[in-house]
Amino acid sequence: MLAECGKTKVLCTASVQDQVPHWMHSRHQGGWLTAEYSMLPNAGTPRKPRDGRTGRPLDGRSFEIQRLVGRALRCAIDLTVMPEVTLWVDCDVLQADGGTRTTSINGAIVALYDALLWMEEQKQLPRWPLRGLVSAVSVGVVGGTPMIDLDYHEDSSAEVDLSIVFASDDRLIEIQGAAEKQPFAMEQLQTMVAMAQKSCAEIRDLQKQALGI
Ligand code: UDP
Repeated sequence: MLAECGKTKVLCTASVQDQVPHWMHSRHQGGWLTAEYSMLPNAGTPRKPRDGRTGRPLDGRSFEIQRLVGRALRCAIDLTVMPEVTLWVDCDVLQADGGTRTTSINGAIVALYDALLWMEEQKQLPRWPLRGLVSAVSVGVVGGTPMIDLDYHEDSSAEVDLSIVFASDDRLIEIQGAAEKQPFAMEQLQTMVAMAQKSCAEIRDLQKQALGI
């Protein structure tokens, strides 16, 4: 699944591994889902060293993003009704122009849905485990104005930079971000969350279109 948002492009895939992590063995309670995120060296400018080439397997930012993607997706799925499998969701950024984490989430849930359909076809699912879709968008304040889906240029000059994830029933999954220059008012936060909510509903429609549901 190639997820695109403006110039940002992320290849999202989901695969099924017939085993759960070691730490889950004693729990006997279904499956697990984990996500990986990586940016190709020339997805942005300047070139970023390829993961694994600098001695550290993954930079802190990628690690933080893949944990966000994993948390968002685990909120959408009931892992206790899954068989003992690990769902691997890979998000590989081909081109980055801001909002790679939110685009990753938007594509990852579509890839996950597709993988679950495959499992259902293979009669591997006792029950449909997905509670709904998840959608995400970046929102910030640039030059005093609240804005949706910041590109790199807007992101780098933003006074506030948030990534917001919504469930398909319009409940919040995660708000990530901070004031970059000075504190901001609660009213501004409320405006930004409302803008993100509207935008996520539009993204959800596009996700449904892509899935044909
Ligand atoms: N970026 C980059 N190289 C990096 C990190 C970031 O080119 O190593 C650019 C890229 O365009 C990215 C943007 O900076 O989308 C904003 O990065 P941020 O960490 O805020 O995450 P994102 O907005 O992509 O979720």
